[in-house]
Amino acid sequence: MKAEIICVGTEILMGNIVNTNAAYIAEGLASIGVSCFYQSVVGDNDARLCEVFKEAAKRADVVILSGGLGPTEDDLTKETVADVMAKKLILDDKAWKQIQKFFEKRNLTLTDNNKKQAMVPEGSKVLYNKNGTAPGIIVEGDDVTAIMLPGPPGELIPMWDDQVVPYLKSISKEAFYSETVKICGSGESLVETELKDLIDAQVNPTIATYAHTGEVHVRVTAKAESEKEAHKLVKPVVKEIKKRFGSKIFTTDEKVTLEAAIMQLLNENKLTLSVAESLTGGMTASRLINVPGASEIIKMGFITYSNKAKRKYLGVKRSTLEKYGAVSEQCAKEMAKGAAAAAKSDVSISLTGIAGPDGGTEEKPVGLTYIGVSVLGKVKTKKYLFSGEREKIRESATAASLTLLRQCLLENLTERTFSAK
Ligand code: ATP
Repeated sequence: MKAEIICVGTEILMGNIVNTNAAYIAEGLASIGVSCFYQSVVGDNDARLCEVFKEAAKRADVVILSGGLGPTEDDLTKETVADVMAKKLILDDKAWKQIQKFFEKRNLTLTDNNKKQAMVPEGSKVLYNKNGTAPGIIVEGDDVTAIMLPGPPGELIPMWDDQVVPYLKSISKEAFYSETVKICGSGESLVETELKDLIDAQVNPTIATYAHTGEVHVRVTAKAESEKEAHKLVKPVVKEIKKRFGSKIFTTDEKVTLEAAIMQLLNENKLTLSVAESLTGGMTASRLINVPGASEIIKMGFITYSNKAKRKYLGVKRSTLEKYGAVSEQCAKEMAKGAAAAAKSDVSISLTGIAGPDGGTEEKPVGLTYIGVSVLGKVKTKKYLFSGEREKIRESATAASLTLLRQCLLENLTERTFSAK
C-alpha cells in the first residue's frame, strides 16, 4: 500500500513552525510497512491544495492530510478534499455535540463557525477528537482514501496512534510488526558495524538504524500474512541484537524514553535523585522531570553556573576551583557529592563543561565536559569532548549524563532488577 502526506498551513511553508507532523506520520507509516514516496507542504490556498491533492491521489492509495480543519475561513482542507472527491458536506451530530461540550466545559463562547468543524463529507468515517474540537475524517473514494487530521500535534498524535494506525492496518493486505531496540552509549556507526552482517543479509525482517543525540534506535520490521506471523519473524532478530548490545539496550518499547527507563530503575529501587548542573542549566533535570511520577524521585535540582554558587550550594572547595578549575574531574566529583549531601538524595548527577562558543583554551577546549554520578556515596566521573554549536554541546552533555547515570545505576545495584526490558 502506498501513502502520501500533505501538510497544510502557510506557517509551515514560511518556516514559522517545524513540520513535526510529517515526521511523525512518516515514521508511523514506515513502522507498519506502508510505503511513502512523497510528502508535500502547501499553504492555506484552495487552488494549490486542490492541485497537490489531485497529484497525490494519482500516485497513492491513501493520502494523509494534516491541518486546515479549524473553524476559520482559511481552514479549507475538508472543503477542498470533499470537492475533489465529489462529496457533499453534512453535519455530524456526534462531532457537533462534542464540540459544544468542549466549549461548555471550558466556559468558552461558541460561534457560528465552530459548527463548520462538525461538517464532514457524506459517507466518511469520523475520528472523534478527545483533545480538541476538529474531528479527523476518513473519506474512502473509488481510487483513493483521504485521511484528514487536525494540525496541532497534541490532537494529531493520539488520533494517529489510536484510530488511524488500526484503520491502516485493517485495510492493508499484508500485516506488519515492528520493534524498536533503543541503545545508549554507542554511536550509530558502531551500532551499524556491530550489526553489519544482519543488515547485509536483511530481507524480511528489515533492519534500520536511526541516530538520535546520545541514542541509536534499531527498528526491526517484518511483513507476513498476519501480525502474529510477522512478530515471529522479528523475535529472533531482536534477540540477537539484545545479545550483542546487552545492558546498553534500555528498552524495546517504542514509547519508552531513556529518562523514563532511568526513572523506572530509580523507582524500582526506591532511590531518590538530585541534579547539579552548570553548562546544561537544567536540561538534565528537565528531561527527567518530564517523566510522570518524577516528584517521588527527584528531590532537588541545582543550577550552579558560577563558581560562587558551586561553593555555596554544593560545597565545592575553593582550593579545588583554584587548582583544577570549574571544568575539571575534581569539580564534577565534588558537585555530585555536594548535591547528594545537600538534597539528602541517594543518587546524584553533576555536569560541568564549556558550551562555547567562547571560553575554550588549548588545554580546555570548547565541548570539554565532566560528568559525575554518585550512587549511594560511590562517585564516578567521566570526561567528554563534545562538538558542535553551543545548543548541540549542551544537548549532547545532557544525553551523556543520562547514559552515565543509567550505567552507574546498573553497575551499583543488584543485577536482578536491571534485566533490559
Ligand atoms: P485548529 O482547529 O487549531 O485551527 P487545524 O487543523 O486547522 O487546527 P492548523 O490551523 O493548520 O490546524 O494548525 C494549528 C496549529 O497546529 C498550528 O499553529 C501549529 O502550531 C500546529 N501545526 C499545524 N500543522 C503542523 C505540522 N505539520 N507540524 C507541526 N505542527 C503543526
